[in-house]
Amino acid sequence: MTFDRARDLIRDVPDFPSPGILFKDITPILGDAAAFRSIIDGMKARLEGTGVQRIIAIESRGFLFGAALADRMGLPLSPVRKLGKLPYKTDRIEYALEYGTGTLEAHIDAVHPGEKVVVVDDLLATGGTAWAAGQLVQKQGGSVGAYLFVVELTFLKGRERLTKGGAPVESLILY
Ligand code: AMP
Repeated sequence: MTFDRARDLIRDVPDFPSPGILFKDITPILGDAAAFRSIIDGMKARLEGTGVQRIIAIESRGFLFGAALADRMGLPLSPVRKLGKLPYKTDRIEYALEYGTGTLEAHIDAVHPGEKVVVVDDLLATGGTAWAAGQLVQKQGGSVGAYLFVVELTFLKGRERLTKGGAPVESLILY
C-alpha cells in the first residue's frame, strides 16, 4: 500500500509554531476524502496481528486519526490530553520538552488493567510525547502493543526511543 497521494498533500510550514521548526501540516489530508481513507486503511493494516484492544489517541491531531481508526476497527478509544483539559479524575505524567517540561493526562479509567493498546498520533518527532503516553498506559496496568503514526521524522530518531520499551513502531509516511 502506498500513500503517495497523502504524502503529496502534506504541507511544509516553515517557522511554525516557533522559528526553526518545519511544521508538517496534515490538514490537507483531512480535506481529501480518498487520501484520508487511504491513511485510515493503512493504519488498520499495520495493526493486523497485534491484538490491540483499544486506541489511545494523543491530543490534538492524534484524535482525528485515532477516532476514525477506532470506528473503522470497532475498538474503544481513550484520549490522552495536555494538562487541565480532561474533566474527570486523571493520572498524569510529566515529560521533557525541548524547553522545560510538559504534562499529559488520561482519565483514571482510560485503560483497563491487562489491556493491550495502540498509541496513535499524527507525527513522530523525538518520541517524547508518545513515550509519555505509553508510560500512562503502563501506570494504569495496560501494555503498549504498538505505536502508530501517520508521519515519522526519521532524523529525530524517536523510533529508537520508543522501541527500547519493546513495542513495535509503525508509521506510514517517512521523511
Ligand atoms: P515528539 O514528542 O517530539 O515526538 O513530538 C510529537 C508531537 O509534536 C506530535 O503530537 C506532533 O503533532 C507534534 N510535532 C512535533 N514536531 C512536529 C512537526 N515538525 N510538524 C508537525 N507536528 C509536529
